[in-house]
Amino acid sequence: MGKVTGFIEHSRDLPRRHQVTERVNDWFEIYQDFPETKVRQQGARCMDCGVPFCHTGCPVNNIIPDWNDLVYRGRWKDAVRQLHATNNFPEFTGRICPAPCEASCVLGINQPPVAIKQIEKNIVERGFEEGWILPEPPRHQTGKKVAVIGSGPAGLAAAQQLCRAGHGVTVYEKADRIGGLLRYGIPEFKLEKRIVDRRLRQMEAEGVRFVTNAHVGENVEVEKLKREYDAIVLAGGSERPRDLIVPGRELKGIHFAMEFLPQQNRRCEGDALDPAWNILASGKRVIIIGGGDTGADCLGTCHRQKPQSVHQFEIMPIPPNERSPQTPWPLWPMQLRTEPAHEEGGTRDWSIATTRLTGDEDGNVADSRHRLHARCGPGVDCDGFPRSGAQRHDRTTRNRARSTWKRSNRRQLHDVHARCLRDR
Ligand SMILES: Cc1cc2nc3c(=O)[nH]c(=O)nc-3n(C[C@H](O)[C@H](O)[C@H](O)COP(=O)(O)OP(=O)(O)OC[C@H]3O[C@@H](n4cnc5c(N)ncnc54)[C@H](O)[C@@H]3O)c2cc1C
Ligand code: SF4
Repeated sequence: MGKVTGFIEHSRDLPRRHQVTERVNDWFEIYQDFPETKVRQQGARCMDCGVPFCHTGCPVNNIIPDWNDLVYRGRWKDAVRQLHATNNFPEFTGRICPAPCEASCVLGINQPPVAIKQIEKNIVERGFEEGWILPEPPRHQTGKKVAVIGSGPAGLAAAQQLCRAGHGVTVYEKADRIGGLLRYGIPEFKLEKRIVDRRLRQMEAEGVRFVTNAHVGENVEVEKLKREYDAIVLAGGSERPRDLIVPGRELKGIHFAMEFLPQQNRRCEGDALDPAWNILASGKRVIIIGGGDTGADCLGTCHRQKPQSVHQFEIMPIPPNERSPQTPWPLWPMQLRTEPAHEEGGTRDWSIATTRLTGDEDGNVADSRHRLHARCGPGVDCDGFPRSGAQRHDRTTRNRARSTWKRSNRRQLHDVHARCLRDR
């Protein structure tokens, strides 16, 4: 443990985000740089717990207290080595991992947890800046050949490890670029694609071969791979979205997130898209059904495309602002999360269950009267206004909030009463 009193002297600190008014006009990452002194102070907050619960939270078993300590002491190069001992791509996880390590950090019992994710990002970025992260080609070749199918983070990590172990590795990717959801799912403002490309260059220099537009089972025969390779790794990810089975789902203008987000990532890469297939929020009144991270990615993408309005509907009631008693430390907490995309605008609505979608005679979801029909779920008043504790105010404030809420939601939720009235 670097500084015994670190967690008493320093409070949790994170880098500032670029101004909302600026960042909604570009696709760059939203965080500003974090000075070295501040990162080291954050490292000093780690208590080097005898039983470091952050380990149990981390899905890749990062040796967190060790690199926190190394950062506090300014031993950056050692921290880079330590970080890569368990994680092939800390520059991805340091940006987009939801950080269950922080949720289980012991300091989090009665203080804000150690800023583990931020420290991770700074270590790896320092490593690249200093030129310490270099290709690590194998010292000897085994003569074995492995095909990896799918180039998302799972396929890439497997490919890098297998290559470093001396096997001849070829990654087959059906898309036109490598990266899986890192490339085409997660928006640029969360993970700039130059970060992915930087790691791919290292892997290529180590000897990994990438083949794009290679759809195994379609234009690449499985039998051929079986003949040519000693082993095959299946890392095809999960591409089946969760559909919403309600009347009207087939109407035009309703899209899965993974139809919408990849298009914008392609535009950011400079691809020219066929205008006939464009899905753009520009100038539209948009509803995002789903209040999770993918919904937030859609929200941030919408803001940058300049819609008329955006509402994000979540089926669950608004969670508490603090960790709920049902998910005590060190569990992943059920609590309200506000992503930077929420800070950028839009309206979040809770306890909204979509029951049907209606449209015009041309089959478009939008017509002058109806768009989306919803009913209130548990924890909402019969007019859909959230009833949960997190929204509890004195009577005047609540009534004012209720009127504003009703005004802004009337058009979309015109029949939100229906089910409640029926159920009475
Ligand atoms: C919109 C969105 C945002 C997300 N944001 C985050 C986040 O912020 N933080 C986080 O931790 N997680 C996030 N996730 C989840 C995360 O992206 C996934 O868990 C992760 O990408 C899964 O990695 P994977 O390698 O298993 O699969 P994928 O990333 O899906 O990669 C699989 C690849 O295999 C290819 N493939 C499939 N079949 C074949 C075939 N037959 N032949 C050749 N290639 C094939 C696919 O084209 C794809 O490129 C997000 C997911 C989505 C959809
Ligand atoms: S649980 Fe938190 S304080 Fe304890 S070792 Fe891990 S990061 Fe440090």
